[in-house]
Amino acid sequence: MPGTVPAELEITKAATGTLFRLAFTTRLHGPCYRCLDDAVLELPVAGREYQATNPDGSDELRTPYLHDGSLDLAGWARDALALALPDKILCRAECAGLCPVCGKDLNREPHTHDEEMPDSRWAALEGLRKQL
Ligand SMILES: [Zn+2]
Ligand SMILES: [Zn+2]
Repeated sequence: MPGTVPAELEITKAATGTLFRLAFTTRLHGPCYRCLDDAVLELPVAGREYQATNPDGSDELRTPYLHDGSLDLAGWARDALALALPDKILCRAECAGLCPVCGKDLNREPHTHDEEMPDSRWAALEGLRKQL
C-alpha cells in the first residue's frame, strides 16, 4: 500500500482489562470494476481489541496483537484493512460501465445500440480473438 495514513489509537484502561480502538481512513487505488478507469476509494477502517488483565487462558479475553506489553499495530492495521476491503472498487456508485456491445466507456459516451445481430464476419473475428 503506497503512502502512509494517520491513524487514531485509543487505549482505555478499565478495571478488568484494556480496550484498544483503532481507526484510520485509507485510500484504495485500482481499476473500476465496471469501466476499468482509475478509481480512488476512501475506506474507513476501524478495529476493537480487548485485553483482560487476567485472561485465564481464554482467547476471547486477549488480543492476538499484544505481545509482551507491546501492541503489533502494523499487523492489526493490516488485518483490519483486510476485513474492511470491499469486493470491488467502483469509480462511483452509479458508474455506467463499459458497453457490452462495443466496449466503449458509457460514462464518457452514453449510447445505445440497435438490436441488430452482429455481422457473421465480426462473429468469426470475435471467435478468433478468444483463441488468442
Ligand atoms: Zn467506473
Ligand atoms: Zn456500444
